[in-house]
Amino acid sequence: MQPARTALPPLRSIRYRACDMKPKFIPILILAAASCLASAQEHQPTDADFFAEALNQTPTPQSLSALHEQLAGEPHIAGTPGDQRTIERIAALFESYGLVVRRQPIWAYLSYPVSAGVQVLPGRGEPIELSIAEPPVEGDPHTAHPDLTFGWNGYAGTGDVTGQVVYANFARIEDFQALADAGVDCRGKIVIARYGGNYRGFKVRFAEQAGAVGLIIYTDPADSGYVRGLPYPQGGWAGPHSIQRGSITTLDYPGDPLTPFVPAVEDAVRLDPEEVALPHIPVQPMGWQSAHEILSRMEGQPAPRSWQGGLPTTYRIQGGPDLRVRLKVEQQRRIVRTENVIAEIRGSTWPDEIILAGCHHDAWGFGAADPLAGLICLIESARSFGALAQEGWVPARTIRFAAWAAEEHGIIGSTEYVEQFSEELTQSAVAYINLDMAAMGPYFGAAGEPSLAPAVSAAARTVPQAREPGRSVFQHWAGDMPASDPKVMSLSELGGGSDHIGFNAHLCIPSAGFHAGGSEGTSYHSNYDTVAWYRKVVGDDYEPALMITRMTNAAITQLAQPAILPLDPSRYAQAVRNYVDQIADITSASPAFGPNRPIALDRVATSAELFRLHAEPIVRRLAAADDLDPQRAAAINACLMQIERAWCDVGFETGRSWYRSGFTAPDQSSGYAAWMLPALRHAVSLDDPDLLDERANACERFFARATELIEHAGRLLP
Ligand SMILES: [Zn+2]
Repeated sequence: MQPARTALPPLRSIRYRACDMKPKFIPILILAAASCLASAQEHQPTDADFFAEALNQTPTPQSLSALHEQLAGEPHIAGTPGDQRTIERIAALFESYGLVVRRQPIWAYLSYPVSAGVQVLPGRGEPIELSIAEPPVEGDPHTAHPDLTFGWNGYAGTGDVTGQVVYANFARIEDFQALADAGVDCRGKIVIARYGGNYRGFKVRFAEQAGAVGLIIYTDPADSGYVRGLPYPQGGWAGPHSIQRGSITTLDYPGDPLTPFVPAVEDAVRLDPEEVALPHIPVQPMGWQSAHEILSRMEGQPAPRSWQGGLPTTYRIQGGPDLRVRLKVEQQRRIVRTENVIAEIRGSTWPDEIILAGCHHDAWGFGAADPLAGLICLIESARSFGALAQEGWVPARTIRFAAWAAEEHGIIGSTEYVEQFSEELTQSAVAYINLDMAAMGPYFGAAGEPSLAPAVSAAARTVPQAREPGRSVFQHWAGDMPASDPKVMSLSELGGGSDHIGFNAHLCIPSAGFHAGGSEGTSYHSNYDTVAWYRKVVGDDYEPALMITRMTNAAITQLAQPAILPLDPSRYAQAVRNYVDQIADITSASPAFGPNRPIALDRVATSAELFRLHAEPIVRRLAAADDLDPQRAAAINACLMQIERAWCDVGFETGRSWYRSGFTAPDQSSGYAAWMLPALRHAVSLDDPDLLDERANACERFFARATELIEHAGRLLP
């Protein structure tokens, strides 16, 4: 197919202008009169109502449902033949919408299961073989697909180990501390722990550090199972055999384990795998029925009340000398080729300002929920913009839709993308929207950088609420919440765990993640994550997916169309003040800091407040500016984008050099949660007041730089 822009000759493109602070004459540029089609002439890119309406009309539940069936038709683990076929399908879909498609090949170091087995060795009697497979369920023929795997964790060590058993609750750092305090020695033991409480990779790291020779992670019915509700296929919760897969790496960087900082191209210079801190011990996930076979045979002292799960047994800390478990795991790690698929519509007025939206395409099985509940919305959004472009409407800025590879193994595709194209993205990317598992129910929520809150809120006003056509998403989202600013909903923290991380934490490109929930159940990373599960639990009306598609369309439009980007940097000030208060709560409990609030934190809060006072009136003037010539707008936008980049540029040390943002990073010991102001959090975690003081300087530098940039933007207004 021809690229969309051939439908309409683009307006004369404006070269990107850096926000340099030298005063200069800004020429008034008269747009070349392009030979527009009638529809485009009647509806200039600023006609927000027209586009909102058109972009709400194009996506349909039928189309989303058909995409879902097409992409969830076979298992597609990264690097397998099913993955490659999925990549071809996605590329063909994007092309059929008239978008320009680029495929970025990636050679990543992935892991695959070869064999595994778990046996209970009771003091007397025969060994008991435990199930680590998920039997097919009636009424869902997909669950019998031959390409489905037994339960496994990506990058588990290979080994055949036998030992006594220790139960470690969620295997958090505090759980292992409690075991040590109780005099329980994990050395040489098999640790069994339940999912929940932290990212599973940290369970492995802490178990290894405690000297365990193997780790079993199981899904407790109190976490997902009969304690929560009916299991699939009667309901949506985990049944006795349901297994959560998932990667267990905890490196100081996401992406391909062998190529930190550089793209995993075919001839990349790679680290020696032996020198990369991947897990060593065998790790095996299982369902609660198999775990019950172990836990019910344990004979040591009862575990604390808060460690008791939902199985009908007393959870005990140790199994005793007569109970041993044998754990045998064989995996293969090898360099495997996969691909990102990226579809673009080139902007008509500001082609060098790029809005990105993305979702990964790989899955542990069929991936109906993870990732397809988001990916189908991304693809339907691409179809929406493609259809408008074919009618002659080309967005003012460039839009890129990205289907990322190998997210499940360790956020690999998107990381390699930001590493390969860091220069272009640093210069040109306005914002990134992530849709991983986004449409899981009717209730919308969003996480992201505070500067994006106005754009996401404005989008939510134009989109109907799922299953309540009389209301907007915004009305439902805001609900009864007493918001200080009722026009703008604040975004929650993004944390780690998905493809936004390279954008916001490595390149300081503001990012938002959409998610809609409210359904009863989870098929997370199991072989039961099928279209049949999704339709039973989330619904077969595809209203949540329709809402997420429209929200994606609307948020992209908010960012792609107005002359001045709707980024509001003044919102960082309040966010930083809140995070400083949270950090002060931590220091007040630390003997190294003492009860008084560190002066360093006050300095950060003061600089944030000064910035807010400078920035708010300028941001208001920018939002009200109209009839700006494109070149002047581009110069102002460059300033706004550079304020975001300043979180990377002013030199924050966070203890992990890949995470460059001074604003956000994933938690260093939990994984899914966020560490806001990570440079400060890191200093506090080291109990080092001098380091905190030094790192507060970088926060002050950020706000000084941001003040310069926003004032310069204000001076560029006519
Ligand atoms: Zn996912």
